[in-house]
Amino acid sequence: MSEVAVGLDVGGTKALAVLVSRDGEILDELRTSTPHDAEGGAGAATARVLAEQVTTFAERHGLDVTTLAIGVGMPGMVRRDGRLAFAPNLQTVSGASFPELLRDSIGATAVFMENDGNCAALGEYAWGAGRGVDNFVMVTLGTGIGGGIIANGALVRGRSGFGGEIGHMAVEARGALCGCGGYGCWERYASGNGLARLAFEWASEGRLPRLTAQRGGAQNVRGEDVTTAARDGDDEAISLMNEVAWWLARGLANLVAILDTGHFVIGGGLSAASDQLLPSAREYLAELTFGYDKRPPIVVVPSGLTVHAGALGAARVAFDRQA
Ligand SMILES: [Zn+2]
Repeated sequence: MSEVAVGLDVGGTKALAVLVSRDGEILDELRTSTPHDAEGGAGAATARVLAEQVTTFAERHGLDVTTLAIGVGMPGMVRRDGRLAFAPNLQTVSGASFPELLRDSIGATAVFMENDGNCAALGEYAWGAGRGVDNFVMVTLGTGIGGGIIANGALVRGRSGFGGEIGHMAVEARGALCGCGGYGCWERYASGNGLARLAFEWASEGRLPRLTAQRGGAQNVRGEDVTTAARDGDDEAISLMNEVAWWLARGLANLVAILDTGHFVIGGGLSAASDQLLPSAREYLAELTFGYDKRPPIVVVPSGLTVHAGALGAARVAFDRQA
């Protein structure tokens, strides 16, 4: 039983690597840009980056790469056998098997794959805002919406390993086109990109006149402009953040109806704006949830592990699945 594990969290822009002790302490950390070239086949360029991160840890800490427990979190549909079936936001890795790639390149034999949202859920469950909570849903508001469902103390992986893709739950029939090819997916409304899309839509409709004038056109109004202006008390921006909070609550209410979840952990980049989102999301959740007043209180809390949730969870996967 190894005392340390490596957690790798591969996103669309960066790959975050952590070396983690069994009690969840981060001992070392590396951040590298995610390559987007397809040279060498699916995932080859990304695997080179990950291999370098792992060997760097091994050299710095005197670890044996061949037996080191390594967990890899990937943004996409990760099959139970470790192959990435589909990654809409990271096309160059679709079809890749990182356990195979890392075995062939550096001889690593204990490599385990999981979806990044599922990793974040497992990380929060072990060491963060879901600790001790046997029924909760992790909601990662990043570029899209990732997520992971913990039910009765276990991750819901589903038949093939694709469970917990809550971002592609349709919340608006015939709504905005999504990267997955569907329409009206939750992540088109309540994620970082959802905010950016709504900001452009509102600015184009003349509903953000001050921000549009400041930025010199509707096309220049970014999500960050809205969160910053809302924090400064701008009423137009606050209205838009309330709109995003409503969409967030819309999806949460659906999850409550299906799972009877009483606890949500909200992470991802947009959760940096938790102060502007969560209070109104909680109010909307009370309005939108089926039988809200017949249920025990529903808790919506920010991530405890913030930017490290996915990487820590990937390490947790490695600890749990290593034979
Ligand atoms: Zn979708």
